[in-house]
Amino acid sequence: MNPDVSGATHRGIVRIWNAFKGALFPLTCLMCGQFYLQRPGLSKSFQRGAVFNELIKKPPSVFLFSRLMTSYVCPVCAQQFTPIESPCCTCCGIMFKSREGVDHLCGECLNSKQFFGMARAVGVYDQALMAVIHGLKYGEKVGLATPLSILLLSAYQYFWHDRPMDLVVPVPLYGRRLRKRGFNQVYLAIRHWEDQKWQGALPALPMVAREVLRRKRSTPPQTGLGRRERMQNMKDAFELSASHAIIKKRILLVDDVYTTGATVRECARILLKEGAEAVDILTLARAM
Ligand SMILES: [Zn+2]
Ligand SMILES: [Zn+2]
Repeated sequence: MNPDVSGATHRGIVRIWNAFKGALFPLTCLMCGQFYLQRPGLSKSFQRGAVFNELIKKPPSVFLFSRLMTSYVCPVCAQQFTPIESPCCTCCGIMFKSREGVDHLCGECLNSKQFFGMARAVGVYDQALMAVIHGLKYGEKVGLATPLSILLLSAYQYFWHDRPMDLVVPVPLYGRRLRKRGFNQVYLAIRHWEDQKWQGALPALPMVAREVLRRKRSTPPQTGLGRRERMQNMKDAFELSASHAIIKKRILLVDDVYTTGATVRECARILLKEGAEAVDILTLARAM
């Protein structure tokens, strides 16, 4: 048979099967809990193809989020995603309430030492990002690691295109919490950065270094604590497990949510004290 015809037939069958499967097994939206039918989403060809290569060079957007989350969030709820936009703080990345003007330092960054150089996030920590982060963290939806990884990559490409980093370090979990959950959600979301199929499309990505930091002790939940108490709570919670690896390296520290920054600030302090050249922060979400 002509290979073009057999390819077209195959694609036709796949399309019919997907439509059939979608009608038989509607998906449940992680945000509103309603059933919805799957739309064609981020297919493998999209990930490898020109569309993906173009998208990944743009900042995270509602379009990218809804396209990536098509198996997890219904098209209506996906519109609630809020990307981080200027004007924001040049250091900690908080978005200013006024939507006019240029990026500048916020009051907190003017008055206190943050240790890291720049912190940026994929989006605002609202219902949309909360639903998908919790889906990965507590809902055992491990498949979310790939779309979250692409969102982080999109943010990295956008915010760091002119200042590449050497290493990507996930903020570690404490041993007991790690054993209970079985995985570190942040590591899960960035380990795809080493994926070969992305390497050709993008400039050299920093190396993922999982074993650089270790959490020495469990820290009580930060909820309800003020800035000073959070810093106290985090004091000496981390240690370096591979000190030689970070000397004179530019490190991108990755975490799921930036709330007051106490966790990443403490990690950055230790990394710089032990010889890192610079530490920047990338999180999935930024609490505002
Ligand atoms: Zn929904
Ligand atoms: Zn700031």
